[in-house]
Amino acid sequence: QDPDYIAAWPDTQSEIAVPLRKEGVVIGVLNVESPHIGGVSEDDVRILDLLADQLSIAIENAALYDRLRAHAEELQSVVAERTAELAQALEQARAADRLKTQFVSDVSHELRTPLSNIRLYLDLLRQGPTEKFDVYLGTLSRETDRLVALIEDLLAISRMDAGTVFPNPVDIDLNRISKGLVEDRLQLYADRDLTLRLNLDENLPKVSADEKLISQVIANLMTNAMHYTPSGGEITISTHQHEVDGQSWVSLEVRDTGLGIPDSEQTLVFDRFYRGSASRKMKVPGTGLGLAISKEILDRHGGRITLESQDEQGAVFTIWLPLSGSSSV
Ligand code: ADP
Repeated sequence: QDPDYIAAWPDTQSEIAVPLRKEGVVIGVLNVESPHIGGVSEDDVRILDLLADQLSIAIENAALYDRLRAHAEELQSVVAERTAELAQALEQARAADRLKTQFVSDVSHELRTPLSNIRLYLDLLRQGPTEKFDVYLGTLSRETDRLVALIEDLLAISRMDAGTVFPNPVDIDLNRISKGLVEDRLQLYADRDLTLRLNLDENLPKVSADEKLISQVIANLMTNAMHYTPSGGEITISTHQHEVDGQSWVSLEVRDTGLGIPDSEQTLVFDRFYRGSASRKMKVPGTGLGLAISKEILDRHGGRITLESQDEQGAVFTIWLPLSGSSSV
C-alpha cells in the first residue's frame, strides 16, 4: 500500500524488505522479490541487512561530502570576497599615499615660486638702481601677500584634515551676510568696472551654520567671480529657499558673466590645487585651494556647493544649507 512501492514482479510470492537508514530515519527500502514461495531465505535476509548497513553508511558519506563541498564553495566565495575587499582597501591606501605625495610636491612648488621671487627682488634691492625701489617693493609686497594667502589656505585645509575645525552653528541670516560682504567690495568691483547686484529673497529664513566659515565661502566665491570676469561684466548675488524631496534648503548663488568653466574642468575645480584655464587666461594669482576649502566647509554643514557653467558664458556657484534636521554640524 506504500505509494512509493514499485511492483516489479506481478507474480511475486515471497519478498524481503530491509530499511535503509540515515541518522536514524528510514530513507529507503531495499526490496528483493521472488516468484517462488520460500524463494528467499534467512541467509538472504542477513546478507541484505549487511548490504543495507553498508548502503546507509555510503549514503550518509555522500550527503556529508555534498555538505562539505557546499561549505568549501561557500568558503571559497567568502575568501574571494574578502580578498577583493582587501585589494580595494590597499588601492585606496595607495591612492591616499599618492595624493599625499602630490600634495607635498604641490605645496613645495607653490612655496618656491614666491620665495624665489622674493630672493630675486631682495638681490635687486641690494644691487639695483634706487629709482626702481618702489617697483621692487611692490613686487615684494605682492609675493609676500601670496605666501601669506597660501599659508592661510594650507592651514585651513590641514585643520580640516586633522578634524580640528569645529563649526560653531548659530542662526545666521545669509541676506545680512551678503549685504555686508557686497558693501565691503563695492569699491573693489567698481575699480574693475564690474557691476555688483543683490537679488535677495526677503522671506529667507535663518539657517543654523558657522557664520565665519560660511562668510569665508561667500567671500571666496565673490573674489573668484571678480577675478574671472573681465571688466564691463556683472556679478549677481541672490538667495532662495527650496524644497527638495521633503527637505528645506536655503541657497545663495553667485552668478557672473565671466569666462565660465569648460565641461572638462567642472568637477576638477573642487580638487585641491587645481587651477583651471580661466586662471591662466586672466593671469590671476592663486592657490587652487579656495573651492576645495569651500566644499569641505559645506560638507561639514551637511550642505553642498554646486556649479553650473557653459564655457565663455559665465559661471554660477550655489551653496546649499539644510534647514533644521539634516545638518551634521
Ligand atoms: P584659485 O582661484 O586660487 O585658482 P579656486 O579653488 O578658487 O582656486 O578655483 C579653482 C579654479 O576654478 C580656478 O583656477 C579657475 O580656473 C576656476 N574658477 C573658479 N571660479 C571661477 C569663476 N567664477 N569663473 C571661471 N573660472 C573659475
